[in-house]
Amino acid sequence: MTKGVLTLVVGPMFAGKTTYLINQIKKLKTGRVLVVKPKIDTRYFKNKLVSHDRQTNAAVIVDQADHQALLSFYKDQPFEHLVIDEVNFWQPQIIWPQFAYLLSRKVNVWAAGTEYDFRLVDFGATKFLVGKADKVIRLFAVCEGCGGQADLSYRKFRSNKQVIVGGGDLYGACCRSCFAKLSQV
Ligand code: ADP
Ligand code: MG
Ligand code: ZN
Repeated sequence: MTKGVLTLVVGPMFAGKTTYLINQIKKLKTGRVLVVKPKIDTRYFKNKLVSHDRQTNAAVIVDQADHQALLSFYKDQPFEHLVIDEVNFWQPQIIWPQFAYLLSRKVNVWAAGTEYDFRLVDFGATKFLVGKADKVIRLFAVCEGCGGQADLSYRKFRSNKQVIVGGGDLYGACCRSCFAKLSQV
C-alpha cells in the first residue's frame, strides 16, 4: 500500500462507534497510535475515549478549529495509526487536509462519527469523509420506539442549537419510521 487506509465508522448515537474504536486500538500491536477526541466532547472524562457503557482509552484532546493540530502531533512524534472519535465536530476543510497529508505518509486512520444531527441535517465532516474513505463500517443501535435497527439519533428536548453535548439523558436512537413520533424538534 502506497498510502494509509482511511476507515470510517458511522452510525447514530449508541451504535457502538466508540466501542469499535477502543477495540480497534487493542488490535494495533505494532506502530505508534495517536488517539484523538474533540475538545467539545466533555462527557464522562476529558482525556479519554469513553463509550456509553464506560469502556475507556487514553486520548489527546484537539481543538476542532485548529487547522494544524493533528499535523503538529505528527511532526513532534510521528505515528503509524490515528484513531479519532466524533469527527462530526470538525468541518471538512479543517480535518480533510490533515487526513490527506497523514494518509500520504502511510498513516492508517480510523475515524468515527454520526452522519446526521437531530434534525437529520449533515453533521460536520462525517458524510464528506465517508466519500473519501477506503472502507466504511456502518453500525446500528436499537430503536427506542420499536426495538428495530436504528440509524438515526433524536433529541429528547427542544432546542435549535446544533451542538449540545449529552448522553442517553438527552439523546436516543431510533429508526426512520419512529423518528417523527419520538423527536422533540
Ligand atoms: P457510540 O459511540 O456509537 O455513541 P458507544 O460505543 O459509546 O456508542 O456505546 C454503545 C453502547 O451503548 C452499547 O453497547 C449499549 O450498552 C449502549 N446503548 C444505550 N442505548 C442503546 C441503544 N438504543 N442501542 C444500542 N446500544 C445502546
Ligand atoms: Mg461515541
Ligand atoms: Zn423504530
